[in-house]
Amino acid sequence: MNNELRNKGLATRAIHVGEEPDSSNGASAPALHMSSTFVTGQVAGFSAHDLEVEAPYLYGRWANPNVRTLEAKISAFESTEDCICLASGMAAATAIFLTFLSAGDHVIVSDVSYAGVAELARDTLPRLGIEVSTVNMSDLAAVSAAIRSNTRLIHTETPVNPIGRLTDLAAVSSIAQDAGALLSCDATFASPLGQPSKDLGVDLIMHSVTKFIGGHGDAIGGAVAGRKELIEKIRNESAIHHGSIMSPFNAWMIARGMATLPLRMQAHQAGAMEVAEWLETRGAVTKVVYPGLKSHPQYELAQRQMRNTSGMITFQVGDNATGEALAQQMIEKLKIVHYAVSLGHHRSLIFWMGTDALMQTSFRLEGAQLESYRDFAGDGVFRLSVGLEDPEDLIADLAQVL
Ligand code: PLP
Repeated sequence: MNNELRNKGLATRAIHVGEEPDSSNGASAPALHMSSTFVTGQVAGFSAHDLEVEAPYLYGRWANPNVRTLEAKISAFESTEDCICLASGMAAATAIFLTFLSAGDHVIVSDVSYAGVAELARDTLPRLGIEVSTVNMSDLAAVSAAIRSNTRLIHTETPVNPIGRLTDLAAVSSIAQDAGALLSCDATFASPLGQPSKDLGVDLIMHSVTKFIGGHGDAIGGAVAGRKELIEKIRNESAIHHGSIMSPFNAWMIARGMATLPLRMQAHQAGAMEVAEWLETRGAVTKVVYPGLKSHPQYELAQRQMRNTSGMITFQVGDNATGEALAQQMIEKLKIVHYAVSLGHHRSLIFWMGTDALMQTSFRLEGAQLESYRDFAGDGVFRLSVGLEDPEDLIADLAQVL
């Protein structure tokens, strides 16, 4: 990797890190390398454990040029020593849990996380003998109180999907350090532009690169960025042994999308701000949550921690029945905003998430944890991922139903 490029501006890094003109034919754009195996010029051991990642390519489950290009770009953005890209965001979360936790260990997971991660932590990890505590990560006393002598990992997500609540990463990192535990953070909503996760003390920065990093809604992938020794462990477990690697084609597509990430994140932020401010003026809307709005309950933390408040808004319209009826109208009437799951694409996406339904399936919160969820989400939220269309066109589309 050309390390000089890692110190250039973000736009330059996004375009040039991890790639160079093809020395055999001068092609300026990176070629796609689908080859599963690589002709080797040296007699080496057969086990991948004998290889350094910088060694010549040998087999695609260990490393691939297109995947390495994307890994170089993401680690340059997160200012980490290395990065590994995997088949999906869920594969990245699974990689963190299964690499750093064993039977008898304890993990603290945010009580609200991306639904798949919440279910994985609640249902799968205990089956493997791993103790799991789910904690509201905006309540630092609760995080400290959850620490046990066998706590090995704290996993948080900020801003958290779907409710947009924030974790104070510097504060949680100091709790993790005192406990001798690693801190991992799902920064998918924030994107690598959103917060300086490494400087705030995060050891393992995770992304669903399906979202803002890829940015175009046409390739699924995941990534974990961090110190070299940690990423090497994940590579051995999750890539080599579990086989959850990213396909070279997806890496090629996502690296192409990532080249415009800094520009896109500026536009996502500006568009989301305009739409969020407009939503706050609508009579039908009872609450808007967006980290760029002064009305966000953690606005001061957002200002301190976030460099880009991204494109994710939630808003409420009253009770569950009102939300479901409005969702139906959106399905019928919206012409520009797609009624669909996922986020971070150039196309705007909206989806209704009723609180009771999510409590029964993914989160199962009670007491103070449920109260905190309801403070942010009421009876349910519309999760709006503001894309790159002209904000006035998005507003006109939404105004048909709001
Ligand atoms: N983390 C967050 C915050 C997400 O929003 C998602 C997907 O929506 C994931 C992880 C899982 O990512 P993937 O769908 O790429 O497996």
